[in-house]
Amino acid sequence: MELSEKVRKAIRNVPNFPKEGIQFKDITPILSEPKLVSEILDYWENVYRSEPIDAIIGIESRGFMLGAALAERLQKPFIPIRKVGKLPYETVTFIYDLEYGSSEVEMHKDALKPNWNVLVHDDLLATGGTAMAAAELTKKMNAQVYGYCFLVELAFLEGRERIESYSKNVDSLAI
Ligand code: 5GP
Repeated sequence: MELSEKVRKAIRNVPNFPKEGIQFKDITPILSEPKLVSEILDYWENVYRSEPIDAIIGIESRGFMLGAALAERLQKPFIPIRKVGKLPYETVTFIYDLEYGSSEVEMHKDALKPNWNVLVHDDLLATGGTAMAAAELTKKMNAQVYGYCFLVELAFLEGRERIESYSKNVDSLAI
């Protein structure tokens, strides 16, 4: 079976979470299958090993697990982006619009060096707002997005179109 199919099969669809009418893609069953996790990391390690990537950014919180594991595989720094108020040291922040209201994310101000190429990882790409915020934070630090990798992409929400202005290098395992 192809890796994308294995990932698709392992994802659990949870109706009406976190609110009525939303079908949530639960990726935790993937984490319960260490062999599948290894295959995913093998695949991404192979894709990015020879690429000029200086760091992996993982987006809170489901981007932390595989993001940190991939950073270790590639022997590159792992940098967390978190919701405002969670990081202990000085930060740079970015505020972005949500369907209702706004959200604020941040990164430690010394996490990225100027001109670094970063790979942004999250579990899922939906509207692209979160990944775009990560790209904007990267820009604020005078670094650039080299590419993005996601476990799942909800293509009908067209997030890819929003984030491609930063990098067209978008890898989603299950679309
Ligand atoms: P976006 O900003 O692209 O609209 O939403 C993506 C962000 O929301 C990601 O950080 C992702 O973790 C979270 N997210 C939104 N919907 C889902 C979902 O159905 N499943 C999971 N696992 N995460 C989701």
